[in-house]
Amino acid sequence: MALTWIRPDTVAAETWRDDAACRSTDPDLFFPVGTTGQALDHIAAAKTVCATCSVKLPCLEFAIESNQDSGVWGGTSEEERRTLRRHRMRARRAAAAAARTA
Ligand code: SF4
Repeated sequence: MALTWIRPDTVAAETWRDDAACRSTDPDLFFPVGTTGQALDHIAAAKTVCATCSVKLPCLEFAIESNQDSGVWGGTSEEERRTLRRHRMRARRAAAAAARTA
């Protein structure tokens, strides 16, 4: 299983892990070293597994909200999640600013 680390305080909220399509895959696919060469092949292979996964959305949500910087989560690479986080932060700041002026 690629996703083996579970914070004790979040066990109840993370039952989605039970249905993870990566449970029986090589963790090296999901946590390749680097972002070039063979690592790109591993990332692509991991994303292929994610594309079949029934818990892709909760996995991605967990990864974003818990700042998982490494590996493939919810069908996204590290850089893709950083981009998603930036977009969310901008949207939250814009919503907060709008609320202050309302
Ligand atoms: S979306 Fe990908 S990383 Fe997340 S549980 Fe499913 S297979 Fe694993």
